[in-house]
Amino acid sequence: MSPTADYDAVVIGAGFAGLYMVYRLREDGFRVLGVEAGDGVGGTWYWNRYPGARCDSESMYYSFSFLPELEQEWPLEERYPTQPVILRYLRTVAQRLGLPKHFVFGARADSVRWNDEAGWWTVRAGDRLAVTARYVITATGALSASNRPQFAGASLFEGEQYSTASWPDGPVPLASKRAGLIGTGSSGVQVLPELARQAQSVTVFQRTAQFVTPARQERLDPRLVALWKANYQEIRRRTKWTAGGIPIPSPIRSAAELSAAERTALCEEAWRRGGIWFLDGTFSDAVTSLEANAVVAGFVRAKIGEIVTDPDTAEKLKPWTHAWGTKRVPVGSDYYETYNRPNVSLVDLRQDPIEEITPRGIRTRSGEHPLDVIVYATGFDALTGSIERLNVEGRDGERLEDAWAGGPRTYLGLMVPGFPNLFTITGPGSPGVVTNVPVAIEQHVEWIAGLLGYAREHGHKTAEAEPGAADEWTAHVQDVASATLYPTADSWYMGANIPGKPRVFLPYIGGLDVYRRRCDEIAAAGYPGIGMGTPAGTLGAPAAAEAGHGAG
Ligand code: NAP
Repeated sequence: MSPTADYDAVVIGAGFAGLYMVYRLREDGFRVLGVEAGDGVGGTWYWNRYPGARCDSESMYYSFSFLPELEQEWPLEERYPTQPVILRYLRTVAQRLGLPKHFVFGARADSVRWNDEAGWWTVRAGDRLAVTARYVITATGALSASNRPQFAGASLFEGEQYSTASWPDGPVPLASKRAGLIGTGSSGVQVLPELARQAQSVTVFQRTAQFVTPARQERLDPRLVALWKANYQEIRRRTKWTAGGIPIPSPIRSAAELSAAERTALCEEAWRRGGIWFLDGTFSDAVTSLEANAVVAGFVRAKIGEIVTDPDTAEKLKPWTHAWGTKRVPVGSDYYETYNRPNVSLVDLRQDPIEEITPRGIRTRSGEHPLDVIVYATGFDALTGSIERLNVEGRDGERLEDAWAGGPRTYLGLMVPGFPNLFTITGPGSPGVVTNVPVAIEQHVEWIAGLLGYAREHGHKTAEAEPGAADEWTAHVQDVASATLYPTADSWYMGANIPGKPRVFLPYIGGLDVYRRRCDEIAAAGYPGIGMGTPAGTLGAPAAAEAGHGAG
């Protein structure tokens, strides 16, 4: 039987964030319930099971830092962990820490409502669950509310349709099938080579050409792994104080300081190393100066020209619509090389847009492309989508969606004025998505747990961001972004991929280290910017379930 009592905290989500939050609060003596839509733990890595799914963060960095025994035991075999490996890791963590028993699985939270008189939230998941809790923490993932564009005729398609963001758990036979792939972001870039290997043919429908960086996936040298493990805790300590959650040196020289030959040599070396070494390893001003950016962009376009043999395809693959790095740069294995296969073709939707999906395929302006399978790799309603889809109603019945109608307003990306005792992990205003995410998640979880402990110690039953503090933080998030080229692109960072979404810069790009220092200072100063109060109800005492029924 699922739990029916009320809780100090409900945590929504069972990915990295939800698992650690539940663990932390349980260890701190709070009564905590996890609520998860999936049938098991994993979050992002539970749903995104598409062929080729891997993390862009390297294996040794993509794990929790608070499990020294597990980190010694856990095999590090490949440079980038695959989706099955990460899912296995999270399952192992959950089992070892005894976390599954604290979760209700298969329950998609769809109503989160504040009761001001009682000073608690009611969280519902359809007819599966209705519980009250003093605190609600959304650990719903920054990139989990999937975006499936509504193409005319899609429901009439007679073949199969799949989304990378909710790929079936089991084999999808593709041999002798003609596949169409819509979307060339990180997911599309990863799935394409696998589709091309498995299907009879693949037609890629590209709206925006991307600057794809080679991953240089490889098996890890066991000697390197041993060295790493011998120094793991020290590396973790340093990692916490990096801007991006990965301890590699940042470039110190601007492009202007270098000769043309030096710039090329530097880009070549970064390209050879691949992944983060190219993303963060060229010039100090790569995303702040148009001139420096043009050097990197030109370098990648030249590489595309060298790799892709058909000149027409190569031209279509060269990005010209945005500055390098201003849309999240996909990291791929054999992405451009895949276009040299005879069974892969490319449709440039800017010249030849989709008009409709027919029963037999996709019709673009130039004609019909016959297909048996359509794969959507069309992204997410990033950062805000998964939180707003919870239907959160705060003080005076204010809907979070309405409060954020002009763009999200948060304090530190963690709290929202008008929504007491609500915390968001890797939500808008957080640096999460522009870092190696587990490192940011650990920071958020520990800070939230610290605040809850402080409130308990001081007898405060509510904690709520003050409007002025939230306005100041929200403006700061925009100011930091405005000093870069990021806001110039139509990216999910800007909400530009979702029709009608306010166009504001969503994550905080001032650096995880800077952010951590600010959060630490705020905690040390007794949480300025957060109003704490004592409404009716007593923290720690069970509150009656409002709806009269608990988890079912
Ligand atoms: P994405 O980057 O938003 O890419 C979505 C793609 O679909 C884009 O090419 C987009 O074109 C296209 N698209 C959207 N709507 C369309 C429409 N109506 N018609 C035609 N094309 C359309 O989404 P994603 O690839 O799932 O990646 C999202 C983020 O998740 C990544 O940026 C990354 O942070 C994370 N991710 C990470 C990994 C990893 O670590 N390996 C893997 C996958 C995802 P436009 O560019 O024109 O909008």
